[in-house]
Amino acid sequence: MKLNNLFIVSLLLCFTLSACSIFINSEPKYGYQERIATTKNQNVCGLLKDSVVVYAIFVDVNQYHPWTVYDIESTMDSLNKAMSWVEAQAVINGQSLGITSVMHKQQSKWSFHEGKAKPKPLSLNLNLLSSRKRKHHGHVDSWANKIAAYAARGVKKPSESKVGTKNKIVNVERLIARLRDLYETDNVALMFFLNGYYENNPSMSLHTYSSGPEVEYTVMTNKNPAIIAHEFLHLFGALDLYPHDVHPTFNYAELEETYPDEIMRIQHKEINRLMLSPITKYYIGWQTSLDKENTRMLYHLYDVIEY
Ligand SMILES: [Zn+2]
Repeated sequence: MKLNNLFIVSLLLCFTLSACSIFINSEPKYGYQERIATTKNQNVCGLLKDSVVVYAIFVDVNQYHPWTVYDIESTMDSLNKAMSWVEAQAVINGQSLGITSVMHKQQSKWSFHEGKAKPKPLSLNLNLLSSRKRKHHGHVDSWANKIAAYAARGVKKPSESKVGTKNKIVNVERLIARLRDLYETDNVALMFFLNGYYENNPSMSLHTYSSGPEVEYTVMTNKNPAIIAHEFLHLFGALDLYPHDVHPTFNYAELEETYPDEIMRIQHKEINRLMLSPITKYYIGWQTSLDKENTRMLYHLYDVIEY
């Protein structure tokens, strides 16, 4: 009963969408961590190290509420709290990491409406946020690309301010490229924030398995620091460790028993009570290998075959 509730809450809070299969074809062997999934060190947000910029764009969407100053301030507080927690985890694990949270501003405004993305405004269909279908991802991508293209007008390098429309930005990938340039770091985590705190729709991170050209980003519908940190970790390769069908070989019962407070497994606790398991540390690049016990938890179905 309790387990079911946790499962449902986790499921509601977060979906990570991916089109990638993690099945291995050959005989199972320990130490083949690289075959489990391809989220580690992929694309823009590679390993979670050194200098990272989290770039937050606040978008008013038709299906949710317009952002108020109070809502944005409290969400930025949550984002900062989430990033402080991640930095504290880095210190505990001997990693060098500095995260800067940047709030996007457009003509001194803190948010803009999705309808600004012209000539064809695209309204985000929030019902698609929990979908695993590729064509539904396409809808979210189209929306994100239009929003990115509009937001890029507010992101100019000082040297470009007089030049105007040189280097016209048309999608998320180009916006991130510009942000990487501007902030002089390779690690740019792009997050679109929607004001849907009370609606309980899932947040999602896209293209976390991608090796390009589509780059990873998050659509956040929530301001819970634990969920923000969870999605942020997805961008850097962390995998969901709560039961769902993307990873059928994971031993979820054992994961729960061994790591009850793992942030990729559960998010409705106070963030300071949560932790990172060796599995997540491996995927975000804080350890180079995964020991037999932890690998086994990701391959338990193969264990059954083996025995
Ligand atoms: Zn997740």
